[in-house]
Amino acid sequence: MKNSFKFHSEIPVTSLTHKWIDHKSTLKLVSPNNRSNIEIIVVGTGLAGGSAAASLSELGYRVKAFCYQDSPRRAHSVAAQGGINASKNYKGDNDSIYQLFYDTIKGGDYRSREANVYRLAEISSNIIDQCVAQGVPFARDYAGYLETRSFGGTKVSRTFYAKGQTGQQLLLACYSSMARQIGKGRIKMYNRHEMLDLVTVDGVAKGIIARNLISGKIEKHAAHAIVIASGGYGNIFFLSTNAMGSNASAIWKVHKKGGFFANPCYTQIHPTCIPIHGNYQSKLTLMSESLRNDGRIWVPNKLEDAVFLRNGSKKPEDISEENRDYYLERRYPSFGNLVPRDVASRAAKERCDKGFGIENNENKEGVFLDFSFSVEKYGKEKANELGIQQPSSLDKKKLGKKIMESKYGNLFHMYEKITNKDPYKTPMKIYPAVHYTMGGLWVDYNLMTSIPGCYVIGEANFSDHGSNRLGASALMQGLADGYFILPYTIADYLSKCITEKISTKHIAFQQAEKNVKNRIQKLIQNNGNMPVDFFHKKLGNIMWKYVGMSRNHIGLCKAIKNIQELRYEFWKNVFVPGYVDDGLNSELEKAGRVADFLELGELMAMDALNRKESCGSHFREEYQTKEGEALRDDVHYKYVSVWEYRKNYPISDEIMHKEDLNFTFVKVQSRSYK
Ligand SMILES: Cc1cc2nc3c(=O)[nH]c(=O)nc-3n(C[C@H](O)[C@H](O)[C@H](O)COP(=O)(O)OP(=O)(O)OC[C@H]3O[C@@H](n4cnc5c(N)ncnc54)[C@H](O)[C@@H]3O)c2cc1C
Repeated sequence: MKNSFKFHSEIPVTSLTHKWIDHKSTLKLVSPNNRSNIEIIVVGTGLAGGSAAASLSELGYRVKAFCYQDSPRRAHSVAAQGGINASKNYKGDNDSIYQLFYDTIKGGDYRSREANVYRLAEISSNIIDQCVAQGVPFARDYAGYLETRSFGGTKVSRTFYAKGQTGQQLLLACYSSMARQIGKGRIKMYNRHEMLDLVTVDGVAKGIIARNLISGKIEKHAAHAIVIASGGYGNIFFLSTNAMGSNASAIWKVHKKGGFFANPCYTQIHPTCIPIHGNYQSKLTLMSESLRNDGRIWVPNKLEDAVFLRNGSKKPEDISEENRDYYLERRYPSFGNLVPRDVASRAAKERCDKGFGIENNENKEGVFLDFSFSVEKYGKEKANELGIQQPSSLDKKKLGKKIMESKYGNLFHMYEKITNKDPYKTPMKIYPAVHYTMGGLWVDYNLMTSIPGCYVIGEANFSDHGSNRLGASALMQGLADGYFILPYTIADYLSKCITEKISTKHIAFQQAEKNVKNRIQKLIQNNGNMPVDFFHKKLGNIMWKYVGMSRNHIGLCKAIKNIQELRYEFWKNVFVPGYVDDGLNSELEKAGRVADFLELGELMAMDALNRKESCGSHFREEYQTKEGEALRDDVHYKYVSVWEYRKNYPISDEIMHKEDLNFTFVKVQSRSYK
């Protein structure tokens, strides 16, 4: 393992509050009349890529945007439910840029860059203004001001939302901005195209190889700069809350072309998802964190009640108050049900491991999220407002339900559709599931990877969340990157390219195209006998068991070995139907993605093995306090682990570099939500 620091994070050397302002004034510009000569490829048109494509084309650059769906509107971002953070202090609860910055640094367990996080907090308010101007129908209060709610790990109310469909509304607005530019011809949209390789010339990014998923044609595209916004890689676990197509291939290809990969092991497990119900499931469903504003989490405090609840001989309503354990309120009185996700997830696991789980699935994993208190509270308040004297319990339930409906209606509806249980009447059953990846391609302060000319934004990079992301901060980061950071920083690089002619004639394009074709041929002509999902599911099981919510030395060593064996088995035995020149072939698409997951999984386990501490989402069983809380080791691990792939060497030979994290503005201390 090599420790030499051979790349530069470009963090400006001024006081934290001036870094971004000062840095912007040093960035070079491209004059408006030169911008139309410059082409930029944007891979991914979720909120990060969509906002970047819209902003860059609005500035006058020519943009080629790629996504594998049939429209940018179907990017995984559309699924975001709960909201987007900004420190506007509309509730007057003493929120500020500093408070958002501090909560994010602490939430990430002191494993993120101060400079990036401060910039994110500074920009947060602009994002809301931008989205309101675009027409996003954020929830409003009775006076017409934007409404907010709270998310985990904060003591203020700073999450702006549009019911439980915030991602959808933000994406529609973003797509409208893109559509305007598509109409003008400044964005050329390549729907149903998948990037299969990055092309570099002398180590500089010059283009991509993409497959037209309808015709099967392999295409070469050149540009002055490449922006990757391909989202997260949580689907490596097979079961996750991510969209089925979410994958790591674009970032993995960049990694194998020289882009460093940072903190691959940091995976967020979200505490409130619908529990697993069987072995043939292929998807998990999130119940938004916003529900923890009004829901209380509990399990019975008697083991026999847990058994009765599981076998159906008791209902949650049969368990009296004194026989319930509101374990988050008990363990973390200061934040209660609004502790961050990593803390809430581990606490649920702890209860279920001890036998208190209430769901009748294989591992007896599930806890209650109960809204009866809020229904009652809101019902009482509304009855008061309406002047109803001594409202009956039924009146309160009816009135309270209406308020709950206005806040979370679509989430409750979704839960009922999936489980056939009415959460207005009986508690939801929930359990943690894989949700988000904080790890990603390493980028400097300008969001450029270690490959000049290649930028990464949104969930695909590692930049802002340390070892645990706070709820409602992903949308904030993706849109900060796309609307407000990249458009400035990329100009600095592009200012050197204004006279450069781009072309796909270079031998590097032919070579990359040949490699892509060879791999497709290899997959299709493999003549194996097991489908892709067989391997994906096996990989998911290994990852969840050994690289999931808690990890240990022995398990991680096993994971590395098992993944290597599974990868070997995959290439020997995978069956991909169809012909090499076929067009639409969803099994082929999946096969390519799973092949990449089978490499990334090994790197994730290696990273988790290296980090002999517990921090945020990364919980090493060997490193915990007596109370079972994460035990960080700031002396030895206060760094970003940055992995470098070595061409023609196995993954196990990757080199790890360290980017030291320096905290000058906040005091590094143990993270406590008690
Ligand atoms: C159920 C759910 C709810 C969530 N709710 C919230 C919330 O309330 N608040 C919050 O802040 N965060 C939330 N998140 C997280 C947030 O939604 C994501 O982190 C964020 O939307 C990611 O945006 P992105 O633009 O980086 O990527 P994505 O939206 O995933 O977009 C990826 C894009 O890349 C394209 N792509 C990928 N690979 C390729 C390739 N090889 N070639 C071509 N195109 C490619 C895809 O087509 C797509 O356009 C939620 C996540 C989930 C799963």
